[in-house]
Amino acid sequence: MPNIVVVGAGVSGLTSALLLSQNPAYKVTIVAKHMPGDYDIEYASPWAGANYLPVSDESNNRWEKGTWPELQRLARDVPEAGIHFQRAEALCREKDFSSASGQGFKGLFSTNPWFKDVVPDFKVLPKETLPEGIDSATSFTSVCINTAVYLPYLVSQCLKNGATVHRAILNHISDAADLHHLGKADVIVNCTGLLASKLGGVMDKEVIPVRGQIVVVRNDPGVMLTVSGTDDAEDELIYTMKRAAGGGTILGGTYMKGNWEANPDPNQAVRIMKRAVAMCPALTNGSGRIEDLSIIRHGVGLRPFRTSGVRIEKEKVGNTWVVHNYGHGGWGYQASYGCSEGVVELVKDVLASKSKL
Ligand code: FAD
Repeated sequence: MPNIVVVGAGVSGLTSALLLSQNPAYKVTIVAKHMPGDYDIEYASPWAGANYLPVSDESNNRWEKGTWPELQRLARDVPEAGIHFQRAEALCREKDFSSASGQGFKGLFSTNPWFKDVVPDFKVLPKETLPEGIDSATSFTSVCINTAVYLPYLVSQCLKNGATVHRAILNHISDAADLHHLGKADVIVNCTGLLASKLGGVMDKEVIPVRGQIVVVRNDPGVMLTVSGTDDAEDELIYTMKRAAGGGTILGGTYMKGNWEANPDPNQAVRIMKRAVAMCPALTNGSGRIEDLSIIRHGVGLRPFRTSGVRIEKEKVGNTWVVHNYGHGGWGYQASYGCSEGVVELVKDVLASKSKL
């Protein structure tokens, strides 16, 4: 009966714990500083939109491709998960791909992306229907996740499978080995997001924040819209998405690498709202006035970005095996099941190698 400690209760930790706990032979304890219900700048998951807009290319799409089937199933068959289908439109301005951050989104704005055969209803929109300044656009069926419902849903599924949850702050990843509810852990799964940069035994200096500021409103955008860039600043974005189950509409945003600022910037908030009402007239019934937005709250989250890409690998730290799953940047939800399947494979490898000793 292997004992497994999952460190972290964001979408990466909870999805890893969920898939691991589906195996009745595994005994899973989740250990975390922050849990669903908390809003904290060190905890990215509650701040996400969250939607499925793939950003990988053909060569590295395993995690996102592997996630769509489960998100689709949840949206279709499991209303209590807080996920619904929405029509997405991705509007592309060629000039946005000259910057480094623009390059990171190129896969999403292609008119011939790998995911055209994965998500339903993919189409290239006719040029004559595009707004001024837009060079090309696609539309498809995506999902939007109400994170305030979905994260607790994941916890409840883990509990149903027999996992236990424990609040603790670790100074060193190896400390997790002593926090399993049944005794010493055989494997630790490290899903610490941005704090992987500060955790003893990991201290991954490649992990940096990418600051995302948002405004949550009651208005309905009608469509999940995203544009490849803005003329306001290279690190600002335009996107709208309506969360399932009364979660409000997220207006975004910013994409500020290396910026740890936790407080919303009022000037950025005004720019976010102005761009949203201009690009998506349905939000304010065509008035184009930000005064017609009904604001629920302003927010800031830090995407846990890793410069050389997500870290999904096993490593022996001291006497204990650790399987890492962190560094998902702005795509932790849309890759959550794919990455967690990778974790399950690595945990199996570790346990198989231990049983041979
Ligand atoms: P986190 O959610 O940060 O969780 C880390 C966990 O580790 C926490 O429980 C924390 O307490 C715990 N932890 C860390 N250190 C320790 C320690 N020392 N001891 C104990 N516990 C510890 N993604 C999408 O897929 N789609 C989107 O539309 C989307 N939109 C986004 C919009 C914004 C504004 C932002 C900020 C992010 C968005 N993302 C989106 C990205 C997504 O939110 C992240 O990739 C994801 O939440 C990362 O999850 P995580 O579990 O790895 O990290």
